[in-house]
Amino acid sequence: MASVRRDYYEVLGVERGADEQEIKRAFRRLARELHPDVSEHPDAEERFREAAEAYEVLSKAETRGLYDRYGHEGLNTGGFRPTSFDFTSLGDIFSVFFGEDVFGAGAGAQARRGGRGSDLLVETSIDLAEAAEGVTRPVAYEVAVTCPTCAGSGAEPGTRPETCPRCSGSGRLQSVSSSVFGQFVRTQTCPDCGGSGQIVTSPCPECEGAGQVVEERTVEVEVPPGIHDGQRIRLAGEGHAGAGGRAGDLYVLVHVRTDPRFLRDGNDILSTLDVTMTQAALGARLSVPTLDGELELELEAGTQPGTVRVLRGKGMPVLQGFGRGEHRVVVNVIVPSRLTDEQRGLLEEFERLAGEDTYRPDESFLDKLRAAFR
Ligand SMILES: [Zn+2]
Ligand SMILES: [Zn+2]
Repeated sequence: MASVRRDYYEVLGVERGADEQEIKRAFRRLARELHPDVSEHPDAEERFREAAEAYEVLSKAETRGLYDRYGHEGLNTGGFRPTSFDFTSLGDIFSVFFGEDVFGAGAGAQARRGGRGSDLLVETSIDLAEAAEGVTRPVAYEVAVTCPTCAGSGAEPGTRPETCPRCSGSGRLQSVSSSVFGQFVRTQTCPDCGGSGQIVTSPCPECEGAGQVVEERTVEVEVPPGIHDGQRIRLAGEGHAGAGGRAGDLYVLVHVRTDPRFLRDGNDILSTLDVTMTQAALGARLSVPTLDGELELELEAGTQPGTVRVLRGKGMPVLQGFGRGEHRVVVNVIVPSRLTDEQRGLLEEFERLAGEDTYRPDESFLDKLRAAFR
């Protein structure tokens, strides 16, 4: 390990005041550039470890705070130890640091033996009405599966992988180095076998030795009633196959499309109802759209703008719970904007006849608004 350690901000190429996102972006860019599996730089591996360590420290508020105040020594006394990296492919890096598999199936070298497969994320969009009732949705995606020809060994049928002579089958190489901060034991993935501990001399023709092939798969995803926009559904074991270990999980990110007729407020639904000035004054029976279809609403004479009518149990179902929210209908009184001479005459006549008693709301408009947005 180098005895002069570079400043972590300098390593990542960010300002000292950089936020979480900038730090993540900077490391992601460096990781792509420097990962030993893909980089041509002669010192790529050392620089990659340096970047990974810088990211590990700066991405957590606690270690970043220590480093900002006391530098490298502060971390040492604080008991911080950088993670010993044992990555075999770029895909692994990203799933460790970012919880995602950006390269999809079959990225790069052979997967670790016994390693769990990567998780996958797919997205789907449903209507608000579907979110209210629950819906089963087919979701198609590409996934890495164990190669059927070689059953995952990567070796051509009839041949066998041989034990890697460099690491004697362990898949790892260890080295001990000393520095002013003490002794460091570094574990490194064996570069000859990529960590699998085995060398394939005649690779399987179908998967070219990877042990995995990409398959198109469709699963029926059950979206439960009451789901909110942006929630994820986990399907255990439907992600990428592992190399000997279990498969990763599939996450389905559900988008709930907005419905032009409704506003969603948690489990409640809000809508507005336009009534004419005369309907509001005289009373009316009107049809309003709800999640359950059209519903008749009786408005009494003298209904004021902003009046809220609560339809209990007509909102969204409670996710994984009981009952439903409410649907609040807010009355909007519309006033004529174009009058014929005759209509104008009638309204002027009405105004002459109106007295103090004609207009007497029993609740202020503001109180009504409060009721709508509680
Ligand atoms: Zn194969
Ligand atoms: Zn090896």
